[in-house]
Amino acid sequence: MINLIIFGPPGSGKGTQAQKIVELFDLTHISTGDLFRYEIGNDTPLGMKAKEYMNKGELVPDEVTIGMLENRLNQSNNPNGYIFDGVPRTIAQAEAVNQIMTDRGTEITHLIALDVPDDEIVKRLLERGKTSNRPDDQSEEIIRRRIVEYNAKTSPVFNFYAESGLSNKIDGVGSLDEIFARIKDCLES
Ligand code: ADP
Repeated sequence: MINLIIFGPPGSGKGTQAQKIVELFDLTHISTGDLFRYEIGNDTPLGMKAKEYMNKGELVPDEVTIGMLENRLNQSNNPNGYIFDGVPRTIAQAEAVNQIMTDRGTEITHLIALDVPDDEIVKRLLERGKTSNRPDDQSEEIIRRRIVEYNAKTSPVFNFYAESGLSNKIDGVGSLDEIFARIKDCLES
C-alpha cells in the first residue's frame, strides 16, 4: 500500500503531479482544496465556513479540515492506497492523519515535497488566476498571504515526517514530465 503526501507551497504543482501518480499506482486522490471548493459550490454550511478563510489566503481551522477528511476517508476503501494533496497543512493535522491511518491499520509511507522558489510560485499562481476562477489566485496580496501561512504553519510538517525518515525533497522546477520522472525515481529508490 502507498499512502503518499504530496507536499509543497501553493502553486508548486501538487495537484498536477498527484493526478499522474494516482494513474500510475491506481490510488485515491484526496485534495482538501478540491473538497472545500465542492462544498462552496454547493453552498453547504461547511463551504460557507471554509470560504471565509480561503478567500483571505488563510488556512481553514484544523477541526473543520480534519472532520471533512475523516468523512471523506470513511467513504473510501482503496487497498492500493491514497495520495493526500493539500493535507496535512499543520502539525495538528499531521498528528490527526497519523491517528486516522493507525485506526485503519495502515500508515503514511512517503512525503514528497516539491521545491519551488517564492517568485516562481507568485508568477505561476497569477498565471493560473487568469483561468482558474479561484478568488485566492486573483491578487498578489492574497497569494503572498498563502505563502506566509505555508512558511509559518505548513513547512514544519516536512520535518515532522523527516523524523520517521519519510520526507523527500524534489526539484519542482522543470517540465511536468521531468518532475514526474523525479518523483518516480524517488518512489523506486
Ligand atoms: P494551493 O495548494 O494552490 O494553495 P489548495 O486547493 O490546496 O491550493 O488550497 C486552497 C486553500 O484551501 C488554502 O489556501 C486553504 O485556505 C484551504 N485549505 C486547503 N487544504 C487545507 C488544509 N489541509 N488545512 C487548512 N486549509 C486548507
